[in-house]
Amino acid sequence: MPDGESTQKKSTHQPDNSSHNSIKEKELLSVGFFEEDIEDRTRRYFGKANLEKIKNSTILCVGAGAVGNEICKNLGMLGVGHIKLVDFDIVNKSNINRCIFFRPGDHKNISKVNAVAERLPEIAPNTKVTPYEVRIEEAPQEVYQVDLIIMALDNDYARYMLNYGNLMQEKTVPMINGAMGKSFIEAQIYHPGITACAVCLWSEDYYQAIMNHQVVLSCDEFFVETLPKFPMISTLTSIVGGIMSVEATKVLVSSDGKDGYSDITKGQEPNFGKMIRYDLRDHEMIFADIMPNPKCVDVSCRARRKANKISDR
Ligand SMILES: [Zn+2]
Repeated sequence: MPDGESTQKKSTHQPDNSSHNSIKEKELLSVGFFEEDIEDRTRRYFGKANLEKIKNSTILCVGAGAVGNEICKNLGMLGVGHIKLVDFDIVNKSNINRCIFFRPGDHKNISKVNAVAERLPEIAPNTKVTPYEVRIEEAPQEVYQVDLIIMALDNDYARYMLNYGNLMQEKTVPMINGAMGKSFIEAQIYHPGITACAVCLWSEDYYQAIMNHQVVLSCDEFFVETLPKFPMISTLTSIVGGIMSVEATKVLVSSDGKDGYSDITKGQEPNFGKMIRYDLRDHEMIFADIMPNPKCVDVSCRARRKANKISDR
């Protein structure tokens, strides 16, 4: 049979007399059918099963500033079911030009977590936000009962406390950290107890300085010049929040629903133990391993890897 004939036969419309199928077919042929489904494009991207995983997931986001706003916007619109959001701070005018959920009238009137919880449903109606207006070290233990932790923080003391809090749980969960300089952003993906933890690269001296609140941000001269407040613009926070959100969805969709991350979809492999650094000047991207430190300043990091029989090198 010639090809043309075959094609023509296949494309010939055969009307179905059943009213149910007929309606379904009309719906499928209607552009409006797809336009009325809020999840349509996301489902096409991730596939139905993976989108269900995202919708059934709970994340902890610590920090509701510029990066936290980006994370809540992205993961809310991607369909994450529940976001536990921790930040003790209130909204100030200086936050407005980087935070999608804050308004000028919020200045000193509303906490950052409550502003996000109030406005996220406008763009992500199916995402529940539970606000915790506290510092991470004062947060109830229930905040750690999640599938993933996002570190949207601007200081290493809070990073240490959050990493410690995760390591203290019976089961640790993956963590994604974001950081920025004037001309670069970084994202790191950890699974403490299995890969390096968020403080594995710290020296003992740096750890002591953090614990004693004696930190000088000597890693980036730009920050030293502009102390006491970090310089920051929305483009930087958008990029780091975007990359962190991409990595977050990879972790969520690869979960096997138990303790592992073996349910891999091609192109969605999680990057545990990796650091992504993006330089805005020349658009160079570096992708590097973060090696676990056998002398990590957090003893439970070392103990957990030992118990899991994971070598440090
Ligand atoms: Zn460690």
